[in-house]
Amino acid sequence: MSATPHEAAKALADGALILLPTETVYGLGADAGAPEAVAAIFAAKGRPRFNPLISHVADAEMAADIGVFDAAAQALAQAFWPGPLTLVTPIRDAGRVCDLARAGLDSVAIRVPAHPAAKAVLAAFGGPVVAPSANRSGRPSPTTFADAVEETGFAVAAAVDGGPCRVGLESTVVSALDGRVALLRPGAVTREQIEAVIGPLADDGEGRRSPGRLALHYAPDAPVRIEATAAAPDEILLGFGPGVGETRWSLSPTGDLSQAAANLFRLLREADRQKPAAIAVSPIPGAGLGEAINDRLRRAAGFVG
Ligand code: AMP
Ligand code: MG
Repeated sequence: MSATPHEAAKALADGALILLPTETVYGLGADAGAPEAVAAIFAAKGRPRFNPLISHVADAEMAADIGVFDAAAQALAQAFWPGPLTLVTPIRDAGRVCDLARAGLDSVAIRVPAHPAAKAVLAAFGGPVVAPSANRSGRPSPTTFADAVEETGFAVAAAVDGGPCRVGLESTVVSALDGRVALLRPGAVTREQIEAVIGPLADDGEGRRSPGRLALHYAPDAPVRIEATAAAPDEILLGFGPGVGETRWSLSPTGDLSQAAANLFRLLREADRQKPAAIAVSPIPGAGLGEAINDRLRRAAGFVG
């Protein structure tokens, strides 16, 4: 049963957790300013350690209340919000986003999602909502309401059904700190799209600047084998492109990266339910959205991304 945006906003104000649909993946949401509620997210996800979370807000004005936007951050917000881009900026108001939500950093990760239900919840709540993916730690992100409920529904006071996630891949995380713009996590907005707006990105800051990214992440129970050209009879092959493997297991029969991104986590989950010896995945080209898809696949396979 789906809660209304108003009911979800009320649950947030009461210090409870919610399931929040966004265009990327389903989030497990809490009031960013309430440390106990944020702690409940880590408990529900079974996260092995605290990493900084993304604060979701209804619009760019609310974003400017909590973060300090330099010219590059403003240009990126203008170009990609609402949408699947997260900006890491210096924190402006540490009261609105608690220390635990920032993992003690003096920066904050902010996103304005495009999903109408997310916007309705955030506007009704009127403050930042932290919402990491609603999966239990280390498992693939949920991209359907049913998967989100299965993963962390037990922990929430309100669950909003927003249908299947249009993008199906987490947001791109870009930092704009000290006059330097860096790609911290590849995602739904591509490197090429970002560089078209602000010019060349600084060297990849990942690791140094994006704490809490585990090597084995997004992983189903079955082992994942990437760059596979064929599968054994007891394996499932997630194909890409025409004539590769069974159509129902194809990330995109036409070789379309957007379609592959939208199908990725759902197919990993569905394949996992068949309990195969392994999930083999066809090679995916690396340009555009392929950078983020390959990043998630390397993590699912247990390689450091
Ligand atoms: P998730 O909420 O699980 O989608 O992940 C949030 C992502 O944003 C992770 O990659 C974090 O490391 C990154 N992130 C959040 N806040 C910060 C911050 N203040 N500085 C750098 N990276 C951050
Ligand atoms: Mg996640």
